[in-house]
Order: sequence, then C-alpha cells, then structure tokens
Amino acid sequence: MIKVPILGIEIDNLNLAEVVGRINDLVQQRRPSLIVTANPEIIMRARQDRSFANCLKAAEVVTADGIGLIIAAELLGTPLKERVTGIDLITELFRESQSKNYRFYFVGAKPGIAEKAALNIREKFPQIEIVGVRHGYFQDDSAIISDILDKKPDILLAALGMGKQESWVRERVIPAGVPVSIGVGGSFDVFAGEAKRAPRWMQRAGVEWLYRLFKQPSRFWRMLELPKFLTAVIYSRFIR
Ligand code: UDP
Repeated sequence: MIKVPILGIEIDNLNLAEVVGRINDLVQQRRPSLIVTANPEIIMRARQDRSFANCLKAAEVVTADGIGLIIAAELLGTPLKERVTGIDLITELFRESQSKNYRFYFVGAKPGIAEKAALNIREKFPQIEIVGVRHGYFQDDSAIISDILDKKPDILLAALGMGKQESWVRERVIPAGVPVSIGVGGSFDVFAGEAKRAPRWMQRAGVEWLYRLFKQPSRFWRMLELPKFLTAVIYSRFIR
C-alpha cells in the first residue's frame, strides 16, 4: 500500500531513503510543501481539531514517526515499511545536501539552541549551507518571514513543537514559497546537545518513548494519548 489510513489520516508507506527521494523531487519542483513526521499524539489532536486535520491532509508527505503508528498499522492489517523519525530524516538530508547544496533555514527552540545546533551540524557536515537561524519564541513573525523571503531557503526546519509547527508552516511559510518545510519537534535540542536521544537499542526495541518519559516526566499526560490512540485504532478496525 502506498498510503495507510490511520484514524482518518493517511500515512505514507515510505522508508527513509524514499522520503529523502520525495524531498529531493519537491525541492526541484519548487512547489511549497509540508512534511509531517506524525505520531499518535498528532493523530489524536487531528481528531479533535478539524483545522489541524486539514493541515495534515494538505501535507505532501506524512511519515510514521513513533512506534505507535507502526503498531496501529499492523493492527489494521496494513503494515508500514518502517519508522521515519524527524531526526533521522534531517540527518539524511544534511548528508544529502553535501552534494546537492541545499539551503537550510532553522526556526525553533529556545534562544541560542538553534544556533548551537547549527554550529554542531556545520562541524559534522562542513559543506552545509544554513542561511538563517531563528528561535521559536517569537510574538510577531514578520521579521522572520521577510528574512525567509530574502534568503530563499530550499528546506525550512520548524521546531516549534507538534501542532504549532505544522500550523505555522501552513499559514506563514508555504505562502512565502519555501519548497520544503519539515516539522521537527525537539530535534534542535538534540543537535545542540541539550537533550539526548534514547540509546540505539531502545530506538530499535520501539521504547524510545519510555526514555523520553524518564527524562521528561512532565510528558506523562501527553503520553496517555498513546493507549487512547490504540483503543481508537482497535475500535476502528471492528467498525470497518
Ligand atoms: N518550542 C518553540 N516555541 C514554542 C514552543 C516550543 O520553539 O512556542 C520548541 C521547544 O523549545 C522545543 C520544541 O519546540 O525545542 C518542542 O520539543 P518537543 O520535544 O516537545 O516536540 P514535540 O514532541 O512537541 O514535537
């Protein structure tokens, strides 16, 4: 299956290399597009918020970031190829940009964090072009938008948190004509060294969420969405 519908949202059944390929095409076509790395929380929010659901439906690619979506797809009898997380996707794009010379623009995280992330990324990928870096705690984004119009990035990474980043891209960045924008959640914190990603074995075992819960117990209430999500998926399977 090319797309796997989960509770009304279509997830693209693509592996990491295929998503990168789609993004390469989108940059070439220069048609402004949003890429969403979805998790159960996003799907649950879309169920309650029609305008957010429309935002997800308008996205060019929706990847399955989060083991919950992989499990849901299995439960529905329409398995997904693999998890494509925001961090893995952008790391691959940074690598790709070494030869393709993509112009990146970073928006998000607390003041100083995106700059630190950019510094570390430049160290790892010396050829990379990061043409603008802004923090994500702005009241008025008009200066950011005019800078984006001026710098004309190929790929904008929005790290404003789930929901906020996708809506902002749709309302403000797509009209500014940026070819590809990706919502990347807490990725700048990780690249800046402020937050740690779970060890590889935990990622592979599908328990990265447990690590995040341990590091940030305040996420507990957000994580309660996961059992609600799986219950809704099972229910939807019986209804079908
Ligand atoms: N953030 C931001 N502006 C805001 C709210 C949040 O830039 O108004 C940033 C925050 O500093 C963090 C990221 O958005 O770097 C959200 O990280 P989280 O891991 O919570 O991502 P989520 O799981 O919500 O996608």
